[in-house]
Amino acid sequence: MALKQLYPISTLQPTSPHLGFDYDLAIVGGGIVGATLAAALKNSGLKVVLIESQLQSAAVAKGRAYAISLLSGKIYEGIGIWQKILPEITKFQQIQISDADYQGVVHFQPQDLGTDGVGYAAEHRVLLTALQDYLKECPNVSWLCPAEVISAEYQADGVELEVMVKGDMTPPSPPLLRGGVEGEGKFKIRTRLLVGADGARSQIRNAASITTQGWAYWQSCVVATIKPEKPHNNIAYERFWHTGPMGVLPLPGNRCQVVWTNPHAEAKALQQLDEAEFLAKLEEYTGGLLGRLELISDRFIFPVQLMQSDRYTLPRLALIGDAAHCCHPVAGQGMNLGIRDAAALAQVLQKAHQQQEDIGSLTVLKRYETWRKHENLTILAFTDFLNRMFSNNWLPLVVVRRFGLWMLQHIQPAKTYALKLMTGLKGRPPKLASR
Ligand SMILES: Cc1cc2nc3c(=O)[nH]c(=O)nc-3n(C[C@H](O)[C@H](O)[C@H](O)COP(=O)(O)OP(=O)(O)OC[C@H]3O[C@@H](n4cnc5c(N)ncnc54)[C@H](O)[C@@H]3O)c2cc1C
Repeated sequence: MALKQLYPISTLQPTSPHLGFDYDLAIVGGGIVGATLAAALKNSGLKVVLIESQLQSAAVAKGRAYAISLLSGKIYEGIGIWQKILPEITKFQQIQISDADYQGVVHFQPQDLGTDGVGYAAEHRVLLTALQDYLKECPNVSWLCPAEVISAEYQADGVELEVMVKGDMTPPSPPLLRGGVEGEGKFKIRTRLLVGADGARSQIRNAASITTQGWAYWQSCVVATIKPEKPHNNIAYERFWHTGPMGVLPLPGNRCQVVWTNPHAEAKALQQLDEAEFLAKLEEYTGGLLGRLELISDRFIFPVQLMQSDRYTLPRLALIGDAAHCCHPVAGQGMNLGIRDAAALAQVLQKAHQQQEDIGSLTVLKRYETWRKHENLTILAFTDFLNRMFSNNWLPLVVVRRFGLWMLQHIQPAKTYALKLMTGLKGRPPKLASR
């Protein structure tokens, strides 16, 4: 559903008389990133509504897993849900990076950082369930779902949202609504700040006419879950082929998620291949590291893109997660950037609220944008560089990248720098991560 109307910010006049606010913050999108922001605001004194277009149970039921960085783990520890998540995820004892069937392999290990692991793999279901359960205990957070924003009218002191609630609303805590009927129908909400956490095709971003830069890659990813014959030993693999990188994430129960990047037509062909042929090809491309493989899920296909929004903020509006930026899945960074956006925005808003500043003012929101936009761009550029450098068969590049891999394996400062970048330990950490 397209948003009907948004008014240019420049034409806004202060509203009179002051109507009062139902919420301080309305977050559109109750995926992992939106829910992380709401959870990070538990003790902020701010009243929050999460508007999600799917039922909570449907939002959870995405058969996907993500590489989760050490920093994201610390953020969830700061929120207070990490102990619940930990038993259901894997901790990487090694990340192995290699170039096709070349013997040189880079081994990233805990001793490179002085930590007890170098990352985690977590299923979508595990992370979002933990967040949804936690939010039930947050008296300042209400859910509106399944519901969608029909229009957003930006005013000088707030935003008036028209929201369509699509029946069978499941609020763990009663939402405050005005001008509508109970249960189903159109409602109006007034909020000081609107946050777009509604994913890569963000309607909130588009309706606010925020432009983006970037490109679609020539590649798509085939994603599938497999059960290998050999134990995965909590090792994550990134194997680079000239057609595109292949990531293998170890999951609990000796399962693995494969994210296999290929040019679009080849990815489509892999998705449609007879199961036995697909598995034979996968066994070849995993180099026999995991032995015989069994397919235990459907094969999904995702075209990939790089995107950076020209602005993350406008007066009364902030974008986080994929609504603000997207990157190539190589090195598993996208969700981690979004989790970090959420923690950073929560910190900026909470401090502004304590200092009695207007949380929707551009002055406040720019602190978030200045913090996150440049850091995200660094990772977007890193993933683009990795993909272009390795998805290539041109001999001079092959020589350069094999030398690069040799350096990563043998020159410790280079190895530590790359690992810190991948695990989120470079850049400004949010305070939540040091609690
Ligand atoms: C193949 C692949 C593999 C990946 N692997 C990794 C990885 O290993 N590690 C990693 O960090 N990242 C990974 N990523 C990136 C990661 O998937 C995304 O960065 C992440 O899902 C973004 O989360 P989000 O909450 O911002 O958006 P989404 O996950 O898209 O969630 C958006 C939410 O908003 C809701 N919504 C949408 N529109 C509306 C609306 N109008 N009104 C109300 N609600 C709405 C949706 O229902 C959804 O719940 C991968 C991506 C791909 C394609």
